[in-house]
Amino acid sequence: MDPYKMSPESLMMTHGYTPEWSEGAVKTPLFLTSTFVFKTAEEGKAFFELAYGIREKDEEEQLGLIYSRINNPNLEILENRLCLWDKAEDCAVFESGMSAISTTLLEFLKPGDLLLFSSPTYGGTDHFINHFLKKIGVESLGFYPHQSKEEIIELIEKSGKKEKLHHIYIETPANPTNDLIDISMCRDIADHFSTAEKKIRVTVDNTYMGPLWSNPLKYGADLVIYSATKYIGGHSDVIAGAVLGKSEELKRVKTLRTFLGNMASPHTCWLLLRSLETLKVRMEQQAKNALDVALYLNNHDSIEEVSYLGLLDEASSSYSLFKEQYTSGGAMISFYIKGGEMEAFRFLNALKLIKLAVSLGSTESLIQHPASMTHAGVCPELKKQMGIKDNLIRLSVGVENSKDLIEDIKQALNTM
Ligand SMILES: *Cc1c(COP(=O)(O)O)cnc(C)c1O
Repeated sequence: MDPYKMSPESLMMTHGYTPEWSEGAVKTPLFLTSTFVFKTAEEGKAFFELAYGIREKDEEEQLGLIYSRINNPNLEILENRLCLWDKAEDCAVFESGMSAISTTLLEFLKPGDLLLFSSPTYGGTDHFINHFLKKIGVESLGFYPHQSKEEIIELIEKSGKKEKLHHIYIETPANPTNDLIDISMCRDIADHFSTAEKKIRVTVDNTYMGPLWSNPLKYGADLVIYSATKYIGGHSDVIAGAVLGKSEELKRVKTLRTFLGNMASPHTCWLLLRSLETLKVRMEQQAKNALDVALYLNNHDSIEEVSYLGLLDEASSSYSLFKEQYTSGGAMISFYIKGGEMEAFRFLNALKLIKLAVSLGSTESLIQHPASMTHAGVCPELKKQMGIKDNLIRLSVGVENSKDLIEDIKQALNTM
């Protein structure tokens, strides 16, 4: 059976799992074991030869189970299932989105290299790039969502460090503004500066739109990263991350993961396997609800402006990019309330159903104030440039009945 012939949602309950190996259990058991028994010493030797790259894998050979830092059935089944959504050759799951991001950047960058990244990026990623990577001698150069290919190429040329460029890291849509970055354009920039000796890789943090609504590998990305804490986990009860791409790249990421020891635990994987069964129905309902809520906000007198991908102006250049690289408006809405921090806080404090918390992509709707919360650490200059004003509010829409969400927003706005 060719898994790529069926839709991923049809395979999320069964792919990669053989009930006969687990007493016929329909569901994947939780394999709480640190180590695995070898049938013979010869088998143990063969497994280690593959694990340490002492010899190449035979055609039909699989890496046997050795030790849960290297592999575990829950980890492997989860990785196999995640591959289906992005049509990736391989996947590595981590104990957090940040460990997926930091391990990937550490594997593909070394002191002296230059990293080009889209700004603003997730706070943790930004800190890792501007503090940790900087400390070990990896330089970075940020660009903004609306800069053109020519402008970015000029930026790199003018930096005087184009020979050092090794990696492009982007996050699209940008958080919290929903600005889009063209993935194909980043591929072109990478190819423009790549040489016979040096392949510049493109990594996309697809947490906001994946794996359902955008698949960056299709548009030329080499690696796609998720905070699986968000839509993939989807219930605000687990922290996890994933990296997907070609086997060649993933082999390197997994090797570093083995030595950093930041793979996801069997329990984390088991929770994510459960989440994946409902991924599509959850995300589709969230996007449907988000459109209802965005339309309501868009017509409300107390709201200055709404930024939602499902409501892009059809005449804008963002719209054609959106149509090309995304299949849904998603479930993230940003909006400017009339007034400043005081009005924003008054509104947030008056909500009853929608929870005041950071994070996103979960079954429950979550709302927060970027300027003082998720983006509190962004310098005032960049905040201004990015439109992260005191009256900006970010809402992640859940699976509740959209009528109840709208009622909650309405009563909170009425208190203003
Ligand atoms: C949450 C998030 C991360 C970090 O993931 P963790 O699972 O919290 O470590 C990275 N990127 C984006 C876009 C996120 O939303």
